[in-house]
Amino acid sequence: MIITRVETFAVPPRWLMCRVETDQGIVGWGEPVVEGRAATVRTAVHELAELLVGRDPMRIEDHWQVMTKGSFYRGGPVLSSAVAGLDQALWDIAGKALGVPAHVLLGGPVRDRVRAYSWVGGDEPADVADAVAAQVEAGFSAVKMNACGRMNRLATTREIDGMVDRAAAVREVLGPDRDFAVDFHGRFTVANARKVLPHLAPFNPLFAEEAVLPEYTSRLGELVTGSPVPIATGERLYSRTDVLPALQAGVAVLQPDLSHAGGISEVRRIAVLAETFDVLLAPHCPLGPVSLAASLQIAFSTPNFLIQEQSIGIHYNHGAEVLDYVVDPAVFRFHDGCFLRPTAPGLGIEVDEKAVRAADGSRADWRSPLWRHSDGSFAEW
Ligand SMILES: [Mg+2]
Repeated sequence: MIITRVETFAVPPRWLMCRVETDQGIVGWGEPVVEGRAATVRTAVHELAELLVGRDPMRIEDHWQVMTKGSFYRGGPVLSSAVAGLDQALWDIAGKALGVPAHVLLGGPVRDRVRAYSWVGGDEPADVADAVAAQVEAGFSAVKMNACGRMNRLATTREIDGMVDRAAAVREVLGPDRDFAVDFHGRFTVANARKVLPHLAPFNPLFAEEAVLPEYTSRLGELVTGSPVPIATGERLYSRTDVLPALQAGVAVLQPDLSHAGGISEVRRIAVLAETFDVLLAPHCPLGPVSLAASLQIAFSTPNFLIQEQSIGIHYNHGAEVLDYVVDPAVFRFHDGCFLRPTAPGLGIEVDEKAVRAADGSRADWRSPLWRHSDGSFAEW
């Protein structure tokens, strides 16, 4: 079997899909994208495709090595995401060629179902209690929310009180048997995180995500030591070497993204590395169906897995939904807030190729919001 063609499709709401075709009629799908930089990654995918066309798709590890290291300049979000999507497609092809799901090739399932969480609230969360109640009603046992909106570099009393009030309201709705996690989107300084997190601790969040930006990972150890809330990070780390300092700093939860961190091949290795630090995996996935399918293949085959992010019905998907691009959405149906094990070969989904081709190009220009503080200076989104 040889790879004959690599195509890409930029589709709403902000995703890029790649389709890898072989001479045997087997097709693999991947989702190589950086949110807001779909066109940039698309170019990188086609440059990397030169290394794949005419080659045996079953040599996944060799392709990963060559795509990642076969250029003098390597790593970072754009290149690692381009490799990630192509790697997903190769695992999809391998599974389909052998007639088994990718997680069987990774050693087989280690659990029967995968716990997932839903997002509640928007970027400036207000009354989240009703949104949490709706998720509980839908059967979820965990939710995640932004802890804060735009905020001062050192939080005011009003800002801290607002966060505490929301956490209290959410815990009240969830009761003692369900979880909530809080995402800070790197909006805090280290000092601000140390100031704020003890106030949230009484409400027992599952974890606090990206309290500080990955640029400040060298100071993550101080935060871990000073925070009673478990610290999570990783959606903006792209390789084993990127996550190592965070693991050494003592984070509790690592959140690699299957579409950013080198795909199934590298996230598998990141999971194993995390296991040696007694750290749990909660793969980041605010993306589309292929990325989610790849995440589930890792979730079902990773012993130190905690919980899966997913964006079905999320507040910021406009123009299309996760389920719009799969032939049979039943594979993503929730059962008591969990995904059941996908049994179809490869990534376990059938991409709706007609829908993907029809949507190509219509919304590739999504951009991250640009925020400013009240004094006009740049603010982290
Ligand atoms: Mg996040």
